[in-house]
Formats: sequence, C-alpha cells, structure tokens
Amino acid sequence: MRFAIIGAGLAGLTAAYEIHKADPSAVIDVLEAGERIGGKLFTVPFASGPTDIGAEAFLAARSDAVEFFTELGLADSLVSPSEAKSQYYAGGKLHEFPAGGVMGIPAEAPTEAPEAPADTDHPFDWTPGQDISVGELVRRQYGDEIVDTVVSSLLGGVYSSTADDLGVRASVPALAAALDQLAEAGEQVTLSAAVKTVQAQREATKGTSETSGTSETRPVFQTFKGGYAELYEALAEQCGADIHLDSFVSAITKNAEGFTIKGGGEGTYDKVILAVPAPTAAVLLRDVAPDAAPHLRAIKLASSAIVGMRFDSSDGLPDNSGVLVAVNEPGITAKAFTFSSKKWPHLESRGGALVRASFGRLGDEASARMDEDLLVDAALDDLLTITGFDGRAAGLSEIFVQRWFGGLPAYGVDHIATVAAARAEIAHVPGIEAIGAWAGGVGVPAVIADAQAAVHRLIK
Ligand SMILES: Cc1cc2nc3c(=O)[nH]c(=O)nc-3n(C[C@H](O)[C@H](O)[C@H](O)COP(=O)(O)OP(=O)(O)OC[C@H]3O[C@@H](n4cnc5c(N)ncnc54)[C@H](O)[C@@H]3O)c2cc1C
Repeated sequence: MRFAIIGAGLAGLTAAYEIHKADPSAVIDVLEAGERIGGKLFTVPFASGPTDIGAEAFLAARSDAVEFFTELGLADSLVSPSEAKSQYYAGGKLHEFPAGGVMGIPAEAPTEAPEAPADTDHPFDWTPGQDISVGELVRRQYGDEIVDTVVSSLLGGVYSSTADDLGVRASVPALAAALDQLAEAGEQVTLSAAVKTVQAQREATKGTSETSGTSETRPVFQTFKGGYAELYEALAEQCGADIHLDSFVSAITKNAEGFTIKGGGEGTYDKVILAVPAPTAAVLLRDVAPDAAPHLRAIKLASSAIVGMRFDSSDGLPDNSGVLVAVNEPGITAKAFTFSSKKWPHLESRGGALVRASFGRLGDEASARMDEDLLVDAALDDLLTITGFDGRAAGLSEIFVQRWFGGLPAYGVDHIATVAAARAEIAHVPGIEAIGAWAGGVGVPAVIADAQAAVHRLIK
C-alpha cells in the first residue's frame, strides 16, 4: 500500500507514524513544502539552549498525549512549569486574572463596570446545538469590559483571535454544553448558571480522579526539555516514511490507478492524507472533492509574529509566567508576553532571562508583517511599559523573530458544523483524509488525536 502525506507538521508526521505502526510494510512519502519539518512546532538553537518559537507547551491534562509521547520514548523529556501565574494588562495596569470562571468568564456578572450592572444577566432563549460568538454572548450578559480585557486576552493567547471572532461551541465547548444542558432540562438559561454548571462539573471530575488517585500528580501543562524538536525529530525517525522537503504540492488528481500528486512524490498512491491548513486543503481538493472547498475556505486564519529574546540578566522581570494584553490597549502593540524562564524551571536554570513577545490577532496582519527591527523595538518598549523591565539594559544577547502567516485557524461561529460539512464531502472520496489544527482542535494533543483517528478511518 502506498501513502502520500502532504505536510510534515505535527498532523502529517503523526499520521505517518500511525500508518507505519499499523502496517510496517506500507510505503509512505511525506511531501513538505518548506525546508524543515515540524510546521508550527519549531525549536531554534539559541546559544543558551534549544528555544521554542512556535508552540511552547501542551495540555498534559490530556493523558492520551502523554501516553503518545511515552510510546515515542519521550517520557523522560517531559518537564513541568513553575507555580508562576500569568497576569493581564488593561487600562495601563497589570491585574490578576479572576479566580474560577470559564476562560475568564466569571460565575457572576461583574458589578464594578458601570455599563454592566449585576442584573444584566437576564435569562435568554437558547436552542441546544446553536452557536454564537463568545464576544456576543458575554457582552450581552455581562457588558463589554470583561470581554475586551479578560476573555479576549485569554482566548487571544490560544487562538490569536478575539472573543468576537470565536464561536462558543468550538472555543469554549464546555460552556456550550452547559447552555444546552440548561435548555434541555427546561431550566432558565443564563450565562452565570452555565458557568456555574461547568464549575460544578469540573469539581465533580476533580473529586472522581482524586479518589482514583490519577489527577494530583499530573500538571495541567507540560513541555519538552529540549523543545518541540524532540517530538518532531522522534516522529520523523520512527515513522518509516521518506520525507521530501522543498516539495510544494499544487494539485491532487485521481484516476483508476490511484492518486497522483503534482509537485512531489513518484507514481500513484493508494491513499492520501492532507495535513495542511484548511485553505490549502481547499485548493488541493478542488479536483477530487470540489464540494469540500467552500467549507474549508470558510475557515479563517490568524497571523502572528513571535519575538524570542534572551537577556543576560533577569533582574526586574516580574515573577509571573507572562502577561496577556487587553484588546486595543493604547500605546501597546504586543498581544502577549511569555516569561519563559519564569514559567519553566528548566529554562531558568540556563541563567539570564528568556522572554517571548507575541504580536497579531485575526484581522491584524499588519503586526505580523512589521519590519523586523520595529518588531524587536516594539517588544522591548512594550515590555518596559508593562513591567518596568528594561531589556536593553538587561543585555539582549539573542533574538529570533518568527512570523506565522495564517498560523492559527480561527474557530468561528459554526466551526464544528463547517468541519463536519467539509469532512462529509471528503468522505465521498474513498482513500483520502484531511487533518490538522483546523479540524479537531488547535492544541497539540487535539492535532495528534485527529491524525490518529484519520489513519484509523483510512486503514480500518
Ligand atoms: C505561535 C503559535 C503558538 C502556539 N502555541 C501552542 C502551544 O503552546 N500549545 C499547543 O498545544 N499548541 C500551540 N499552537 C498550535 C499548534 O502548534 C498547531 O496547532 C499545530 O502545530 C499544527 O499542526 P498541523 O500539522 O496541523 O499544521 P502545521 O504545523 O501548519 O503543518 C502543516 C505543514 O504543511 C506544510 N504545507 C503547507 N502547504 C503545503 C503544500 N502545498 N505542499 C506541501 N506542504 C505544505 C507546511 O509547510 C507545514 O509544515 C501554537 C501555534 C502557533 C502558530
């Protein structure tokens, strides 16, 4: 059996690994447009040590991911964060995130905001299964301030999009499920009731796993001691595939012999997996599954830029894991800072300070396109304004700027239905699958699970 996989990011490499595991005799060609593997996982060799400039952590609460990394022989590489917490910057000041709540949405309507008196959370009509943007839902019930400061900054850290561009069902699924649950039970649907329902469910799950002795030892997030390169290099070594770099695929066609790939690979393939962003999948499927294209094209992408900076001294850098910036904060260009050496003890042990500045949200391409010198200056200026830490005086010894054009799919309103519609069209063509961050979740564990499920469907 001959397989072609388009894209050597996490999804493509995981798919190759799973195919090889299931059928060691399979011939697998991975065709990658770029000159390196890993996609949005990218570890840069700073002189001070390997440094992630794309994804920098994963949700270790997902035991399936930890099991997968263990299977790859990487259990000893997993490291946990410090106890440091992040803060948010709004109105020219640093603030603690409110305790509890769901993605920064509190269990009670905020009272301090004049436009959001406590009685705004009136019951509303909710049809189970419906979707709405997080911004619209929370603005209507709790007022603007909580959305533009806390909720959008938290969601922006995950999706590079504001609450107004994200659907509640795909980006805060537990909240959508709680709204459904209230409506189905015939109870009054309010935002605070839904948030309380999610909190109660979390407490119940915590209680159950504590009783079974499983939760307390596992941190919520983890990363790899040597950066994500440990993961993508292990996958490349163990996947039994021929990985072809600089192989930009421009079309896929199908005839009686199988699939032919334009731009890479040799001969025909029995099965093809597209592990590329949704708009690229739309283009590549135009011959074999043209009706999938409109759905895939509907998935928007947010661009961002990361400035990784290493300073000789950490004196004056706050003891936090980072800062998320409120939307439209005057005088600030950055969207977030991660104080990597405060967040991760293994990075702190290198000495000095490691800081990542992030720029750009959905609809703001300009930040990601800023001139490199301007980006670095903005990172240093914003860091000084927000924290008082003078990076220039602290000795900026290493810098790496990475732009992620179309780096993250925006999980907008009806995203789940859009993905289902695209996949239904693709399913009409036996032997082809399309996977990746746009489909089952942007986080590393979700991308792995999506690739595993697709391989299972393809070779069952
Ligand atoms: C800045 C940033 C920070 C992030 N932080 C985290 C984090 O801390 N934790 C977390 O869990 N997740 C994080 N994510 C998300 C996570 O990194 C991604 O969702 C995941 O890596 C995506 O994997 P993928 O294989 O779906 O796509 P990609 O990594 O985009 O891989 C797709 C591959 O396809 C190739 N390709 C595209 N077009 C073609 C073509 N025509 N022909 C051949 N090859 C092609 C690309 O070059 C690329 O290598 C972050 C993402 C970004 C951008």
